Amino acid sequence: MLMGKTAVVTGAGRGIGKAIALKLADMGANLVLNYRSSEKETEELIKEIEAKGVKAVSVKADVSKFDEAELIIKKAKEEFGKIDVLVNNAGITRDGLVMRMKEQDFDDVINVNLKGAFNCIRHVSPLMVKNKGGRIINISSVVGITGNPGQINYCAAKAGILGMTKSVAKELGSRGITVNAVAPGFIKSDMTDALSDKQKEGILSAIPLKKIGEAEDVANLVAFLASDMASYITGQVMQVDGGMLM
Ligand code: NAP
Repeated sequence: MLMGKTAVVTGAGRGIGKAIALKLADMGANLVLNYRSSEKETEELIKEIEAKGVKAVSVKADVSKFDEAELIIKKAKEEFGKIDVLVNNAGITRDGLVMRMKEQDFDDVINVNLKGAFNCIRHVSPLMVKNKGGRIINISSVVGITGNPGQINYCAAKAGILGMTKSVAKELGSRGITVNAVAPGFIKSDMTDALSDKQKEGILSAIPLKKIGEAEDVANLVAFLASDMASYITGQVMQVDGGMLM
């Protein structure tokens, strides 16, 4: 369904980004895999993806840096001539209560999760406009909708992603570009493995499906949004959270 298309995934070396890259490859897309520190994992992932009969290249870049984000888009253009799908997945947490949060922890989370998405959208949009089409999928979080104590930086960034998604959807809709946000709930990854058992139990009790989501659950929704089946969907926030927030 994505045969001959080019997809860029940020933070693709592990976790949800890796699952997204594998799913888009299953659908026939060639992949540009961005990583910041997971070089070995990303090289392994290239082999796994190429075994599926599509092409993959990697780009080391910190998405929070405007010029480094440009390198990702440049590499994709050089290798494949165009970009059809951009998935802004890279993200970090630096949790802490507001009264004790360090300025650096606030800035870092905003810079990676929110500005990183802007940087990639800024560099990819002229290409997509020229191509008369494209799909931008931004990974937000349910806590960007609800808020969460101890995560004011992360929630502000993830809420910012929602405003940015809708604004870019309005700006670029007439150019055939759709822009949507995916808001995962509690998904198994290094990010959530860091939580205590007590925190995990508390979260599970609030999930009607009574289980933690898998990275593949998020990847399936991203794949749908990247596909032709979602061509009339834009500016939306879609939750994949086992019913946690309704
Ligand atoms: P993860 O396992 O901690 O992976 C984070 C990914 O982001 C890594 O691939 C990492 O790359 C990349 N990254 C971090 N900073 C980066 C930077 N400055 N430049 C480029 N890449 C960077 O987290 P995850 O759970 O897979 O999360 C993926 C996305 O889903 C994030 O946006 C997260 O906020 C969101 N999300 C996750 C959950 C959940 O329950 N897990 C829920 C809601 C939303 P390196 O390893 O190369 O540094």
